[in-house]
Amino acid sequence: MPSNQAKIIDGKEIAGKVRNSLAPRINELKKKGIIPGLAVVLVGDDPASQSYVRMKEKAFAKMELYSETFRFPADISQAKLGEIITELNRNDRFHGILVQLPLPEHLNELDTILQISPAKDADGLHPVSLGKMMLGTDAPLPCTPHGILMLLKYSGIDPEGKHVVVIGRSNIVGKPIANLLFRKKPLGNATVTLCHSRTRNLPDICRQADILIAAIGRPQFITREYVKTDAVVIDVGVNRVEDATASRGYRLVGDVDFDDVIGKVSAITPVPGGVGPMTISMLVANTVYLAEKSVRHT
Ligand code: NAP
Repeated sequence: MPSNQAKIIDGKEIAGKVRNSLAPRINELKKKGIIPGLAVVLVGDDPASQSYVRMKEKAFAKMELYSETFRFPADISQAKLGEIITELNRNDRFHGILVQLPLPEHLNELDTILQISPAKDADGLHPVSLGKMMLGTDAPLPCTPHGILMLLKYSGIDPEGKHVVVIGRSNIVGKPIANLLFRKKPLGNATVTLCHSRTRNLPDICRQADILIAAIGRPQFITREYVKTDAVVIDVGVNRVEDATASRGYRLVGDVDFDDVIGKVSAITPVPGGVGPMTISMLVANTVYLAEKSVRHT
């Protein structure tokens, strides 16, 4: 049975609302002479990473916050990268540090993240932050999962008591969003099923979801047979597919076949313009949060 008109969850609009909601806190900091500052560490010349970093720089500039990008060649050693992060940890100009992932293969992501002081963990991916998130205590939250919670909040969708199915178990999306949604906290209290590439009967499990979150990295993988009528669908995937008609030669699509499921769902995030803009707003939110914490600790 087709659903009534589906609500398209506008990530750009909600990301703007999140940024506006930060303005009073930023003003308070500025009154104390503090401009929240972010150091971005970019290794190598991966085009997608370069583009993400440019978007982050733009967002910080637009909000009159401070950000600086430190670019290094792809063959930088683990030891040198560690030294740079240690220097940034000591630099008071920066309240947050972000290392753009993925890193070139010879560099270890966990070792690199461990070099960042938990007090400056802008991405919320340090094991100390993730541990605190799991315990439900105060910490910077991973940006994309936090952004998904805000999309639900501003769309009036309360996960409490609902069955959420998450597909994907990465450290940056799948595992933390599953965790946040079952916490005994506002925007939590859901019953969560976490699926991955070894899950059997994936369409059957997905069809049980009131809220389906796809973080797989496979273009348009989720079709209507995976979706219950009137489900909410959050599409985290960002995939490039060849498109000779596009000026860049490709276009971006999600993990969900939007056109196939739109007639069946009650709400859905588009790609682009859904989860993506939220990730950047939550990075700003984390930097503001870390700047506030640094004041409390001085
Ligand atoms: P990832 O580390 O590549 O993990 C992908 C997950 O999907 C894995 O857990 C994998 O299972 C699972 N998977 C792969 N094929 C599957 C299948 N056929 N059936 C069921 N599960 C399957 O991905 P990620 O870093 O979380 O990113 C996922 C997508 O989100 C990507 O498109 C990425 O670009 C996008 N993303 C977007 C944002 C944003 O801000 N919008 C942020 C981060 C990521 P196994 O664990 O068994 O291998």
